[in-house]
This record gives sequence, structure tokens and C-alpha cells, in this order.
Amino acid sequence: MKILLKPCGNYQTNCYVISKNGREIIIDAGQNSFNYVCEISHAPLTILNTHGHFDHIFDCARLKNFFNISAHIHNNDAFMLKNDVWGAGYETTDEAICVGGAKFEDVKFNIEDFEIEFMHFPGHTPGCCMVRVDDVIFSGDFLFRGSIGRYDFPFSNAEDMHQSLLKCKNLQGDFILYPGHGDKTTLKAELANLDFWINMIGREMRF
Ligand SMILES: [Zn+2]
Ligand SMILES: [Zn+2]
Repeated sequence: MKILLKPCGNYQTNCYVISKNGREIIIDAGQNSFNYVCEISHAPLTILNTHGHFDHIFDCARLKNFFNISAHIHNNDAFMLKNDVWGAGYETTDEAICVGGAKFEDVKFNIEDFEIEFMHFPGHTPGCCMVRVDDVIFSGDFLFRGSIGRYDFPFSNAEDMHQSLLKCKNLQGDFILYPGHGDKTTLKAELANLDFWINMIGREMRF
């Protein structure tokens, strides 16, 4: 599997194009990612959205329509793709495939040769996910290199973030993490920081 990325737009949001056997999957087609994706992707299968913030989904509907492909997003963030709730000026779609079950439930499925798992880690947004494709994880705005996503935005929830971090402690395996902003990291490296963040939120929120 080959992984290409470009930080796009005002927030330098990483847009990933991963390819295997001549087909591609696009992850987080954010602001100004349209031209980049069109340049390097010739046979995309789908777009996977880690969450619904506008800097991550900005060009999703446009690319979906241009290539006539599907787009996936967690149930709880689908409203951000259906309506421009941020007033950011992006194209909307109500045709995305909504993924997800109960809170914190992970959903696994295959698209051609790719194994995909939407791992639900709400808090940054209600439908915030880390998306695993084969043996790498796209951590969106849940985990960054040395940091975690903000949980003070509209639709954020600190208590959910706290629980998501607790859930994350149980993840096992040697995964490389590709975050929504900044450099890649590893699950092992970030697991070492989790107690720090869990305690910090716990103190802030007085859980
Ligand atoms: Zn975000
Ligand atoms: Zn972001």
C-alpha cells in the first residue's frame, strides 16, 4: 500500500491518497484538496472522512460527484456533510454512506482489496473516528504526534473525549498513525502519553 499526502488549505489539513493494486482511497478531502486528488488519483474507490469538520470535508462532495464515487462518514457527523453547518462555503451531499453503531462501537468492512475499520472516538466531534485501512491508522483529529484533538468546539464533548482516550488505551498492535494535521507517529508512542491527557481532562472537568 502506498500512502501519499498533502497538507491542504488554511489549516494545513492532511489529505491522504492511498493506493494498492491500481485503486485508491482518499482520506479527508479537505479545503483545496480537489486539484491534488485529481492529479494523483486516477481510479479512486471512495472517500473516507475521519470526521465532519469543514477543513477535512471541504472538497468531499465535489470529488464524490466528479469521480462518481461513494463517501463514508460516521453517522454522528453526517449532518456536517449534509449541511454547511460551519458556514464555510463547501458543497454538501446527503448521499454519503453513514457508518457506525452504538457509541464507541467500531465498524469493519471491505472495499475491494482494502480492509477498513471506522473506530469511534467521539469527543472532538460526535462522530470523530480513527479510520484503519489494512495495517495503518488515520487518526484524524483524535490523536496527533504528541497531542490530542481539541474538545472545546461546538459539538465537542469533553466527557466523551475522556472516555475515548480510556477506550484508546486498550488498542493493541504496532500501528503507524497518520493524523489530520502534522507528522505521522505511532500508536505505541501516543499510548505512552494517554494517561497525561486523561488526567488533564479529568482535572479540568472534575470527573
Ligand atoms: Zn477537527
Ligand atoms: Zn482538523
